[in-house]
Amino acid sequence: MPCRASVAAMFSIPTIDRELIAKYNLAGPRYTSYPTALQFSASVDQGELLADSLAENGPLSLYVHLPFCESLCWFCACTTVITNNRDRADDYLDYLELELRLYRAHMRPGRFGGAFCILVVDPRVFLTFAQLQRLMAMLRANFTFAPNAELSIELDPRTLDEAKVALLAESGFNRASFGVQDVNPDVQRAVHRIQPSSMNRECIGWIRKYGIRSLNVDLIYGLPLQTVASFGATLDEVISYQPDRLAVFSYAHVPWVAPAQKILERQGKLPGPDEKLSMLELIIARLTDAGYVFIGMDHFAKADDSLAVAQREGKLQRNFQGYSTHAGLEICAFGMSSISQTSNSYRQNFKDLEVYQSRLAAGQLPIERGYRLSADDKLRRTLIMRLMCDFAIDFAAMSHLLNVDFKQYFRAELLGLQDMQADGLLLVDDGHLEVTAAGRLLIRNIAMRFDAHWKPAEKRHAKTI
Ligand code: SF4
Repeated sequence: MPCRASVAAMFSIPTIDRELIAKYNLAGPRYTSYPTALQFSASVDQGELLADSLAENGPLSLYVHLPFCESLCWFCACTTVITNNRDRADDYLDYLELELRLYRAHMRPGRFGGAFCILVVDPRVFLTFAQLQRLMAMLRANFTFAPNAELSIELDPRTLDEAKVALLAESGFNRASFGVQDVNPDVQRAVHRIQPSSMNRECIGWIRKYGIRSLNVDLIYGLPLQTVASFGATLDEVISYQPDRLAVFSYAHVPWVAPAQKILERQGKLPGPDEKLSMLELIIARLTDAGYVFIGMDHFAKADDSLAVAQREGKLQRNFQGYSTHAGLEICAFGMSSISQTSNSYRQNFKDLEVYQSRLAAGQLPIERGYRLSADDKLRRTLIMRLMCDFAIDFAAMSHLLNVDFKQYFRAELLGLQDMQADGLLLVDDGHLEVTAAGRLLIRNIAMRFDAHWKPAEKRHAKTI
């Protein structure tokens, strides 16, 4: 159970203090993993990474990365392949099948039966009917899905029709997510993604009709031509969809990672930091007024959604998919650029499609790089994840969880929080650390104080707000 302080912290609605945000808003990680992918290295011993996988037992979570999109949204920083040619997905599925087969040799025998399985297929349902059926058959041939498994899929209303939603529901998908970003047609033109609201409503109608029980919608603020007023209209429209969860991301302008963002820069004025903060203020006010709970970072959920319930019960987790209700599961990820996670390590596949395929054609798993966690990394990983989920730390409970004297082990870090305490981001007493309402939006910056790898000069991340 979470401590009293953490319950108070998780129910508080974040407040925006512009001076504090200006002072602390440095570039920093999103902590979907610790250490972050920046620490992954090609020189890590792949045999050891695979031995870590073989040592795992019990439930697991599956993730499949499908890279194909019909056209590029200019804000996008995902690993994509832009094509209209559906046949390319057939080839890709051939290689995925090979990857699954090769991977089986690195799983404990007998682990396939009864594995608790969460499947996330990403992104966008580019696949045809037959290709989707083949993918699901392939996965079910290699893994046993638990009866209560969560099967999530990223959809794109622009490529969806009713028959495909029916097939998804029949294949067992019970969670769906799609991006709206902004409903204003001018903004949509500026980001090269035309998606009328009527299309969103139709798509949601099918999702509900076929019994896909949970819907998440993604929005982005900070895009060209957006204003506080225009984003207010987007929020009103999206609240009327009644999604179970909402992720409202701050646009991360990282053209050195996503070159298409250079085109986006030329499409109109990007809102400045002050206007973005006003948008954030509006987002928090409108969504909490509409009954959504602020989960953390950019995530909101209905009070009875499993994310909000897990947070109230101190069981919320964080992984590569963001906030999650499933604790400590091994993540087996397939497809180009995908990242797998075991208790001891991370490993990532090649991001380049040709290299990914050529490795598999040569009979090798397409692992490009990885990271093995030290004992210290594991302690910090648990601490940072609890901080990101609970917004509070009970020192006695954390000592018990980590099997170290928490105050002693993290003495230097706790002493280093004095400026944040003085500025009202944190309350620290002899037994607890609690993030205040003013500190909630700066949770990444607070977590960074416990990150042994982060360097203040690190510029490769986007700003935290
Ligand atoms: S935002 Fe989604 S649909 Fe658009 S290019 Fe990126 S992955 Fe494809």
